[in-house]
Amino acid sequence: MKYIEIFVKTALSKSGLENTDYSLNPYRGCEHQCVYCYAPYVTHTPLEIWRTTVFIKKNIPTVLDKELRRKKGFITIGSVTDAYQPAERKYELTRKSLEVLLKHRGRISILTKSNLILRDIDIIEKFEEAHVGVTLTTLSDEKRRLMEPNSSSIEERLDVLENFRGKAITYAFIGPIIPSITMPYLESMLKILRNIGVDYIIFDRFRWKKNMVLPENLEKEIRNTNYWEIKRKIYRGVKSLEIPIYFDW
Ligand code: SF4
Repeated sequence: MKYIEIFVKTALSKSGLENTDYSLNPYRGCEHQCVYCYAPYVTHTPLEIWRTTVFIKKNIPTVLDKELRRKKGFITIGSVTDAYQPAERKYELTRKSLEVLLKHRGRISILTKSNLILRDIDIIEKFEEAHVGVTLTTLSDEKRRLMEPNSSSIEERLDVLENFRGKAITYAFIGPIIPSITMPYLESMLKILRNIGVDYIIFDRFRWKKNMVLPENLEKEIRNTNYWEIKRKIYRGVKSLEIPIYFDW
């Protein structure tokens, strides 16, 4: 993995995400290398560069500090990269950005596939409003390794939710749903999340982006998936769950 340090002029970008005013991405590129990642297509970065090079936005905490004097609102951290990917262990740009956000009394949401976020529990628990979510696409670590090779294990991710209970608003992001990877585990997944006591669950379908390249078998499966049918199945599964759920489709 190649790390390239860069200096940025802006830290926050206007977000198109629902319930979010701005996005903050301390890195460009992502070491987790999920096979279904659409970030390279959204950021117009060649796939091979996205997977092998991480651009480190060295001055992002300083720029953020200046911007937060005039930009107010809800901020999603890591909208097109994982803010807790391995580079964060060394560079701590997410941690430093959190310190700045706390100073400005920001409201935040972080979604990750890494248990490195536990390192920053001491800062995150001080926010008046902090949402902490982990992504789950399956409960099988074998399948997880194939889909999201450099991410934390399922157990480690569930441990994140356990540890943040009562210290942040916790949620699970189940997506992108890939039927053969996700659906056999859905029922168990929901039971585990209920026992952990997450505050809410978001479900998302797979999203195609222009020029997206996927392994052949995966592409075939997704093209043959009826996501409305999947949605109906999920509704049936969550009936007795008593956890707020949201669909992104
Ligand atoms: S964690 Fe997110 S940004 Fe990183 S490779 Fe996976 S899908 Fe892409």
